[in-house]
Amino acid sequence: SAVIVAIDGPSGTGKSSTSKAVAAALGLSYLDTGAQYRAVTWWMLTNGVPVDDSAAVAAAAERPVIVSGTDPAAPTISVDGTDASGPIRTKEVTSAVSAVSAVPEVRAVITALQRSIAAEAVGGIVVEGRDIGTTVLPDADLKIFLTASPEARASRRSGELKGKEATDLSATREALIKRDAADSGRKASPLKMADDAVEVDTTPLTLEQVVECVVTLVEK
Ligand code: C5P
Repeated sequence: SAVIVAIDGPSGTGKSSTSKAVAAALGLSYLDTGAQYRAVTWWMLTNGVPVDDSAAVAAAAERPVIVSGTDPAAPTISVDGTDASGPIRTKEVTSAVSAVSAVPEVRAVITALQRSIAAEAVGGIVVEGRDIGTTVLPDADLKIFLTASPEARASRRSGELKGKEATDLSATREALIKRDAADSGRKASPLKMADDAVEVDTTPLTLEQVVECVVTLVEK
C-alpha cells in the first residue's frame, strides 16, 4: 500500500532538498506545502488583499486556485493557471507568508488540498512542511523532524538566495529567527515536533547522509 512520509522542521534545515531526494530514491511523489502557503500569499499580495488583516485574508482564502505538480524531479506550483515558482521565492512573499499562513481559514483550505493530494498519490508521497506529522497527516508511516544549529541554517539559506541578500548572513539569520518565532508561536497548527517523530539533527551531516538516514528509516 502507499507509503506516506512526513518531513517537518524549520527553514534552513535542508527539508526541501532532503524530501525531493528521498522521494526520488524511493519512487514516491513529493509535495512542498511551504510552496502552497507562499502561492496563497503571492495571490493575496497581487490581488490587493492586506496581508496583515486576518479577516480580509480569511474572506479570500478560498479564491486562489493552487495546483501542485508532485514529480520530485520537477515539482511545479501554479496559481489560477499561472506558474508561480519564481514569484513565490521573492522577499515580499517570504516576509508576508507567516501572517497569511497563521489564518485558520487559509490553513483549512490548504490542509484539505494536501490531504487529497496525499490520498491520490499512487505508491505514496513525501510531504514536507511544518505541521504535516502533527496535523495534516497524523497517520503517516514515518515522521521526520529535521533540525540544525542557527548558524548552519542561516548559511544554508543564504547559499540559496541570490545576489545582495546572499551576502548578508546576519540579516538572513534574523529573518529566519523571526519567521520561526511566528510559525512556532501561532495558534493554528504551530511548528512543533510530533510525539512519534524521529528527530534528525542535520548540523554535522551532508545532504547525502541525511537522505540515506531517512531512506533507511522508511525501509525499516
Ligand atoms: O518551507 P517554506 O520556508 O517555504 O515555508 C514558508 C512558510 O509557509 C513558513 O514560514 C510557514 O509560515 C508556512 N508553512 C506553514 N505550514 C506548512 C508549511 C509552510 O505554515 N506546512
